[in-house]
Amino acid sequence: MKYVIVGGVAGGATAAARLRRLDENCEIVMFEKGEHISYANCGLPYYIGDTITEKKNLLLQTPVSFGNRYDVDVRVRSEVTAIHPESKTVSVRNLINNKEYQETYDKLVLSPGANPIVPSLPGIASPRIFTLRNVQDTERIKEYVSAVYSKLKKVVVVGAGFIGLEMVENLKKTGFHVSLVEKAPQVMTTVDAPIAAMVQKQLKEQQVEVMLQTEATSFESKEDRIVVSLSNGQQIEADFVILSIGVRPNTTLAKDAGLRIGDAGGIWVNEYLQTSNMDIYALGDAIEFPHPLSKISYCCYLAGPANRQARICADNIVLGNKEKYRGSITTAIAKVFDLTVGSAGLSEHYLQKNNIPYLTSITHPFSHATYYPGAKQMSIKINFAPESGQLLGAQIVGMEGVDKRLDMMASVMSRGGSVYELADIEHAYAPPYSSAKDPVAYAGYVAENILTHRVVPMQWDELQSILSKQGWQDEYFLLDVRSAMEVKNGMIEGAVNYPVDELREFVDDIPEDKKIIIYCAVGLRGYIASRILVQSGFEQVYNLSGGYKTYQLMMN
Ligand code: FAD
Repeated sequence: MKYVIVGGVAGGATAAARLRRLDENCEIVMFEKGEHISYANCGLPYYIGDTITEKKNLLLQTPVSFGNRYDVDVRVRSEVTAIHPESKTVSVRNLINNKEYQETYDKLVLSPGANPIVPSLPGIASPRIFTLRNVQDTERIKEYVSAVYSKLKKVVVVGAGFIGLEMVENLKKTGFHVSLVEKAPQVMTTVDAPIAAMVQKQLKEQQVEVMLQTEATSFESKEDRIVVSLSNGQQIEADFVILSIGVRPNTTLAKDAGLRIGDAGGIWVNEYLQTSNMDIYALGDAIEFPHPLSKISYCCYLAGPANRQARICADNIVLGNKEKYRGSITTAIAKVFDLTVGSAGLSEHYLQKNNIPYLTSITHPFSHATYYPGAKQMSIKINFAPESGQLLGAQIVGMEGVDKRLDMMASVMSRGGSVYELADIEHAYAPPYSSAKDPVAYAGYVAENILTHRVVPMQWDELQSILSKQGWQDEYFLLDVRSAMEVKNGMIEGAVNYPVDELREFVDDIPEDKKIIIYCAVGLRGYIASRILVQSGFEQVYNLSGGYKTYQLMMN
C-alpha cells in the first residue's frame, strides 16, 4: 500500500508515524510545502517572547530524523497543487526548482491546516503586518522584535483571541508597548463576558492598551513605521502589526478535486474521517465535524483534536473503518500574564444564537484550602441545560489550578454528563492542592441548587436592567448580606445591608410584598440568606450569581 499525506505538521506527521507503527511494509510519502515538519506551532509565541530561547527546541523532528525513525519519504518545500481522484494521483510542485510532477496513492490523507484571515483593507500588503502560523512567520516577526527594525517599541495586535493574547503577553515581555484592537465588545469571544472581563482587567493591569468595539480600517507604511487607522477615528503609530483575527480551513485542494465541503466551510468527513471520496481521508484544522453537544458542524482549530484524529484516521486506513471520531468540545486554555483562562463547550453567545435553552452560574472558589498559604481565587462559569442539567459549557479564569478544573469539567462534558456529576467527581485532596469540596464540586452543588429550585439565581445583567429602571424599589428590595466592613468599601446603590449572620433578627423588616434580590461577595452567603428568607415564607427571592465581585467587575 502507498499512503500519501498532504501537510507535515500536527496532523500530517502524527498520521504518518501512526501509519508506520501499524504497517511496517507500506510506502509513506509526506508532502510539506514549508521548510519544517512536525514543529511545535503552539510554542511559536513563546519563542518570540524569549521564554523558549532555542529555535531547535520547537523543531521536534527534522525531515531527516523523522524520515529515518518512521521510514517516511518526507518531501519538504513540496506543494501538492492538485488531487486527481479518478487516477488516484496528486500533482506536486517542487518549490526549490519549480518543477511539477505526479505521485500516485492508494490512500490519501489531507492535513493542510488553516490559513490566517487577512481582510482586504487599504495598506494590508505592508511588510510590517504579520500573521503567525509557522516557523517562517515567527522568524520574520522575531527580526522585527529586534532593535534594528523597531524604533518606537510599539506594536498593534489586531484580534484578541487566544493567539492574539499570547502575542500581546510575549511582545510586552520583550519591552514593547502593546495596543490591542478588538472588534467585539470583549476579548476572547469563546468565553462569556464575566470571564472575559477578568482578562481585560489583567491586560489593563499589565499596561496593555485595550480597545474594544474597535476595528482597524487601514494601514499606511511610513519609513520605519506603520500607521494604523481605527474605526473610532484614532491613529496609532507602531513598528509593526500582528494580525490575528482568526483562520479559515484550507480547503482549496479538496474543493478543486470535487470533495464535499460542509456547511461550516471545512472539508466534510464522516465519523471515520473519510471525505466524500472513500480513498481520501482528512483531519485537523481543515475539516469540519458536528459538535458533540449541539450537533452543529464547525471547524475546530486545536492541536489535541488534530492529533486524536490523526491516530483514528491511520487506524481506519490500515485496519478498516472501525474507529469513530466523536468530535471535540473545543477545550482550550491560554496563559494571559498572571492569569490562566480556559473554556470547554458552548458559550452563552453560541447558545443564544442557536436557540439552545440554558441556565448559567458563576462561582469564585479558591484554588486550595484558604487556611493553607497561597490560595488563589478563581472564577468558574458553567452553562447547563435547564431540564436535564447537562453540562453545556465551562469557563474558568484564575491564577492557579485552572487547568485541572477545566480538564475535569471537560471530561464530564465530553461524555454528555450533567452538573450533578461534577459533585460526584472524586478528587485528590490535601490542603496545598484543593479543598475537601473542590471548586468543580462546588460549581456542581450550586448548579444542583438552581436546578432543584433551592435558589433562584439572578445574573449581573438582569440586575443591571432592573436597577436602570426608575422606581425599581417599588417592586424590588435589594439586600446586601455582607459584613459592615465589606460594605464600607462599596455597595450597590439602593441596597440595604443586613449581614447574613444577623439576618434572622431583621426578617420582619424585609417587605413581604416585594421581590428580594440578595447579594454577598461571591454568592455563598447570598445563598444562605436566600434559604433563610424562603424558609421564613418569602416567595420571590433571588441570589445574585457571582455576587458583588462579578457585578462590580461588569459595571466597571
Ligand atoms: P498544521 O499543523 O497547521 O499543518 C498543516 C501543514 O500543511 C502546514 O505546515 C502547511 O504548510 C501544509 N500544507 C498546506 N497545504 C499544503 C499543500 N498543498 N501541500 C503541502 N503542504 C501543505 N492549538 C492548541 O490546541 N493549543 C495551543 O496552545 C495552540 N497554540 C497555537 C499557537 C499558534 C501560533 C498557532 C499557529 C496554532 C496554535 N494552535 C494551538 C493550533 C494548532 O497548532 C493547530 O490546531 C494544529 O496545528 C492543526 O494541525 P493541522 O495538521 O491541521 O495543521
